[in-house]
Amino acid sequence: MLERIEESFALDPIAVTINETDEPRAIWETVAWFGDETEADAARAELGLSGAVIAPVRQRDWVRESLAGLAPVHAGRFFLHGSHDRALRRAGGIALEIDAGTAFGTGHHGTTTGCLLALDEILKRRRPVRMLDLGTGTGVLGLAAALAVKQSVLATDIDAEAVRVAKLNAVRNGAGPLLQGVTAPGLHHPVFKAKAPYDLIFANILARPLALLAHGLSALLAPGGDLILSGLTLDQERWIRACYRNQGLVARRIVHCGNWVSLVLRKPVRQTKTRRGGPQRVSETQSAARAPGWEIDA
Ligand code: SAH
Repeated sequence: MLERIEESFALDPIAVTINETDEPRAIWETVAWFGDETEADAARAELGLSGAVIAPVRQRDWVRESLAGLAPVHAGRFFLHGSHDRALRRAGGIALEIDAGTAFGTGHHGTTTGCLLALDEILKRRRPVRMLDLGTGTGVLGLAAALAVKQSVLATDIDAEAVRVAKLNAVRNGAGPLLQGVTAPGLHHPVFKAKAPYDLIFANILARPLALLAHGLSALLAPGGDLILSGLTLDQERWIRACYRNQGLVARRIVHCGNWVSLVLRKPVRQTKTRRGGPQRVSETQSAARAPGWEIDA
């Protein structure tokens, strides 16, 4: 059916959807939208579908409906909203205005929320001064941290469009001078080393690149610094923790948001050599990692 619609020059539907409505009997439903009833009627005749139903489409305010799905997000001290919800800002906490667009990261996704909750916890303890946001998307994580501590952040992404959006969001949130945006795949750019070591690193990308970046990211982290990882699912958590444990990092906090996991990993201040020469966790961080309440389910 779709081929017939596409091949016919006489038919020019606005959109066509095809859904399997009855899997066991392999029955599919095709819906085509036309500008008006005359066009729909002509299409029905052209395709010889005398039984096809023509019905008017209910008028809907699509803009309002799609924005309603993007209600503000609260994550610890952070309040994220689109420009349509600017009036909802309240005094106190840290508000961030980010519109949905061509880059990932409005705060609605479990990985972003998890990282913000992890950041909120870290900020209760200390104020980072050298920060890196790898896979910055809209810049959301780097900007949240930069606004919270009034320090600059290096924000990088493999996608030049994301870096453009992140810089724009920095300006919109009054943090233009605080965000240095660089387009780079992984850690392939001299800027990473030039600004190292970092006492806070975000990397919300997928599990596989996180596994590949374990050595590079760990090497950029200052002793006592925190690495917030996300983009991994529940079944990938042990694998990623093991990759970073091999680099001497200690899991300090795990945040669950649905099926998504965010990890806070710390580089111990002192590392002692194992007999085989690998890094070992110091006992202080080991006992803290086992302390009750170190997992958050959001
Ligand atoms: N930090 C934002 C966006 C996360 S989406 C947030 O937490 O919401 C992941 C981002 O990582 C995307 O913008 C994607 O372009 C970028 N990315 C994916 N793989 C990357 C890589 N190897 N190096 C750098 N950036 C990468």
